[in-house]
Order: sequence, then structure tokens, then C-alpha cells
Amino acid sequence: MRKAIVVGSGAGGCMAAKELAACGLSVTVLEAGRAFKPFAWDMDKLEPVRRAGLFFDERMISLLFPEMRIDKAQDGLVHVVGRAVGGTTALATGNALRYDRYLADIGIDLDAEFAELETEVPQTTEHRAGWSELTERLFTAFEEVGLDPQVTPKFMDDASRCVACGNCVLGCKYGAKWTADRLISDADGVTVVEGASVEQVVIEGGRATGVVARMQGKTELIAADVVVLAAGGLGTPVILDASGIPATPTLFVDPVLCVATRWEGAGLDRQLPMPFVSEQPDFILSPYFDWLSFYFNRSWRMPHGDIMSIMIKMADASVGSYDGRHLDKPLVDSDWETLARAVDLSYEVLERVGVPREKTFFGTLNAGHPGGCFPLTPAEADTLHHASLPDNLYVADASLLPRSMGNPPILTIMALAKRIARRAAECHSI
Ligand SMILES: Cc1cc2nc3c(=O)[nH]c(=O)nc-3n(C[C@H](O)[C@H](O)[C@H](O)COP(=O)(O)OP(=O)(O)OC[C@H]3O[C@@H](n4cnc5c(N)ncnc54)[C@H](O)[C@@H]3O)c2cc1C
Repeated sequence: MRKAIVVGSGAGGCMAAKELAACGLSVTVLEAGRAFKPFAWDMDKLEPVRRAGLFFDERMISLLFPEMRIDKAQDGLVHVVGRAVGGTTALATGNALRYDRYLADIGIDLDAEFAELETEVPQTTEHRAGWSELTERLFTAFEEVGLDPQVTPKFMDDASRCVACGNCVLGCKYGAKWTADRLISDADGVTVVEGASVEQVVIEGGRATGVVARMQGKTELIAADVVVLAAGGLGTPVILDASGIPATPTLFVDPVLCVATRWEGAGLDRQLPMPFVSEQPDFILSPYFDWLSFYFNRSWRMPHGDIMSIMIKMADASVGSYDGRHLDKPLVDSDWETLARAVDLSYEVLERVGVPREKTFFGTLNAGHPGGCFPLTPAEADTLHHASLPDNLYVADASLLPRSMGNPPILTIMALAKRIARRAAECHSI
């Protein structure tokens, strides 16, 4: 039986592993992180530390919650990714949005894959019964401003299992949120190796013959007939570079900024985050309580139940890179212009519910959708495989996205990974 290695167990990796195994390959998933555990600290016990301002650097999160990895770019942009089985999907707010227009623009039609995902991955919009009065009020304000809000489809089997604890990004303790590891948890032919950090792909005679990984303090060479890199938008470019295949300095991250206000008893911290979304050119707006800002931003030093905020998530320019140590991600003029437009619209919404802009404050500029450093172009539209890769080496994660979407990408990454894994299996299953 042919052996495949999949590097990384996030949105792309789990989907690729599942499909390769379904096509008869024996699949080993090498994951740098461990089994995911939701954040377990008692927030009340952390409160005195927060109030004293002792949480001063977002990178401290990883000490309390190693599944969440934080990097900072030169201008202070905080970058969040998941490091655990399930990848960043374990930290996701569960938004299940199809967003493939930029892939369609370069000739990639994923209709068939999205149709399969509809039955394969649970998605529901049946959560409105759990919205608070304030969330409904915000929905109406969005409508009044002409923002055409839409109830967000969520990765959930059954919305009634969601207790609206508001902690999706800290991991779901209630099993309500679907995460990508479920694709492989009982798949025949898939073995997950935790704590295996892949350093490079071994390429001999123009073919990938395996990977070099650090496991339990040792460097191991693991052989394979097919290798799929799905270590995410920050992980895969580093492995490619180390393997002699240059990634491009075209990193996007979908920056996020919350526009917030003090609102006694808002209770947004105990609501399903991003219950509805308004899509605008180059950004989306949605109600969201930002735990990162709550713990690390001085302006947010008030009870979590008393903060109301609107999240801006925007598409940024493809400018930046990551070398495994330094995150180079400047925001350029066009990014600041997009952000300014989004902030103005957020002010309009807040004014509709009676909040003047002088009573607002910002959250911490952060991001969690890295990608674009090995982008697909029209040249790869049929194969989804770059000519610079050996025939039996594939990439199947956010690195492939041609540009920032300013939108949740999990569903789109899974559709791409599904197609790529099947193609890899077709070409290399004998
Ligand atoms: C707080 C937060 C909330 C989000 N909410 C949503 C949402 O609601 N909906 C949505 O669509 N998107 C959401 N996203 C974004 C989404 O989760 C990611 O864009 C998506 O998971 C990326 O998929 P991926 O396969 O490219 O990488 P990932 O899911 O990040 O998976 C990469 C995996 O590779 C592993 N890895 C990295 N390097 C190595 C290595 N060298 N060797 C072995 N393993 C390695 C990592 O540990 C990780 O498990 C959110 C992101 C964040 C941070």
C-alpha cells in the first residue's frame, strides 16, 4: 500500500488525510501540536492579574494555553494560530462561509467539492433563538444602516448543544462546535502522530521521498510515496523554503479590529460570537467579544459583561513573509484606507443604538487567517499543483489562496484540499 504523509492537522490537513485514506493510501499525519484541550483556567481567578495590568504581552497566552500560538509583527500586529490536532479550527468561531470568488476568478471551480461539504460537515443557521435582545438590536441597527446582515452559518451539528458560553475561540467544552479533527478521528487508514514538527521535505532525484521531523527531541526521517504540506499559512512556507522551494513574500492575514464601547450588562461575552455578518467590499462587520483585547488591552479594563463591540475583519494586501522566527507583516496604505472605511461604518451602527463615537474605543489589532505565500495562479487552475514542486509533493492549506478574502476561510480551504488530495491519490495510488 502506498504511504502518504500529511504535515499538519488543520482545515486542509485533516481533509487531505481523510480523502487520501478513502482512496486507499496509508496516511500518517504529522502534527507539531498535541491533542487539543479547551482553555481550562478559571477566568475569575485570572481577573486580579488582569486588573493589575500584569497581562502585558499577548505572547503570554501560550503559557496558559499552549494550543494558541501568538506571534507579533514589527508594527505590533498580533497573530494567532492554533497548534494542536485540529489546527486553527479548534480556535475558530465556527463560521462556515463559502468564499471562493478569487479562486473562480483564476479558473478554479469547486462547486462539486462545496456540494459534498454540505453533507459531510455539519453547518447550521438555526441559532437565532439563542440571541440576546442586544444582538437582535444590533441586527436591526445593521439593517437600518443598509448593511444587509445575514445569519452566519456555523459548524455545528445541533445548535441546541451550544450553551452560548461565548468561548468558541478558547475551544468548545460542550462538543457543540465541529472541528476538522473530526474528519479523521475514526477514519480507517489514518494515523496521527502528535508532537512531530516537520522541518523539511527530502527531495531526491526530483521526487519527494519523505520528510525530516523533530519528534521527542530527536530528528527522524520518515519515508513516503506522497507528501502533502498542510502546516498552515505560516508553517508551510517555512517548510518549503527549508526544502529548497521558495515561497513568495505575499503573506496576507485578514486583520481584525474591534470597535467597542462600555455598555452595562451587554453580555456579548456570553453570546455565540459573530451570530450574523455583513459583507462589504474588502471587509466584514459582525458583533464579537474579543477576549484578546479584554486580557491585554488597557482600554478594555472593565467587566467583560459590560463591553459591546463590533468586529471588523478585512482583506489586506499580499505583502509580508514569515521565516519561522520573524513575522514581517506591514499594513500598507490601502489596508489603512480599508480599515478607516470599516471603522466609519462601525461608528454608524453604534450611533444607531445610541453610542456616540467619542464613547468608543478600539481593541487590539490582530489576525488569524495567514495565507497566500504559495498562491495558486491561472497556470495551476487545472492541476492545483505548482510546477516548482516535485510531482508527488502537494500543498493543501491557506498558503494556496490567491489573495486575502477578509472572510472566514475554513470551508474554502477544505474544498481545495479535497480536490488536491483526490488528485494526489489518482496520480500516486499504484
Ligand atoms: C481565533 C480564530 C478564529 C477563527 N474563526 C474562524 C471561523 O469561524 N471560520 C473560518 O472559516 N475560519 C476561522 N479562522 C481561521 C481558520 O481557522 C484558519 O484560517 C484555518 O484553520 C487555516 O487552515 P490551514 O489548514 O491552512 O491551517 P491550520 O488550521 O492552522 O492548521 C495547520 C496545522 O499545522 C500544524 N503545523 C504547523 N507547522 C508544523 C510543522 N512544521 N510540522 C507539523 N505540523 C505543523 C499546526 O500546529 C496546525 O495544527 C479563525 C482563526 C482564528 C485564529
